[in-house]
Amino acid sequence: MVKWGHMKPKKGAPTEEIKKYNAERYKSRKEWYRVYGLKYYQEHKEAMNEYSRKYSKAHPPNKEQSRKKEFKKYQKNREQMLARNSIYAKANPDIMRARGARRYARKVGAIGRGITGEERKILKEEYFYRCAYCNNIAPLEIDHIIPLIKGGRHEIENSVPACKSCNTSKGAKPLLIWMYERNAHG
Ligand SMILES: [Zn+2]
Repeated sequence: MVKWGHMKPKKGAPTEEIKKYNAERYKSRKEWYRVYGLKYYQEHKEAMNEYSRKYSKAHPPNKEQSRKKEFKKYQKNREQMLARNSIYAKANPDIMRARGARRYARKVGAIGRGITGEERKILKEEYFYRCAYCNNIAPLEIDHIIPLIKGGRHEIENSVPACKSCNTSKGAKPLLIWMYERNAHG
């Protein structure tokens, strides 16, 4: 380890000089600090973990404070975060739709274990990317065979891919009634 004692700024030295000295010293010892810190942790693992358990129990996170912190972070990196989110959204449309559907399911108090983005993809593949009702190839949504607000489960077993036109027309009607009406009225 490099000796730094003789480089130490004299008493009353300008703050800048002291800061620079500390930074340089820290830089030169960084690796040593890392190794030493790791060694110290391994030797005192139990006690340190116990301490942090106790600490977090005694100091539960302040929700309001962390919310403010998150918001500050958001304000600072807004553009960057939005750009990243929109790239992610474009690359993962099924995940985004799955999220939206989950929000809706929660809102209407639906039961069921949920549908993942991956499950949505598989479902569409199984139907050869065709609407389950009219067999057209069109941009697909996921329709709940038994509507959620009629007690249908938010699960893949209660879901089929449907084109927007069929999905909208079916709405919250029970499947058989909707099919009957559609056949009756053309
Ligand atoms: Zn259709």
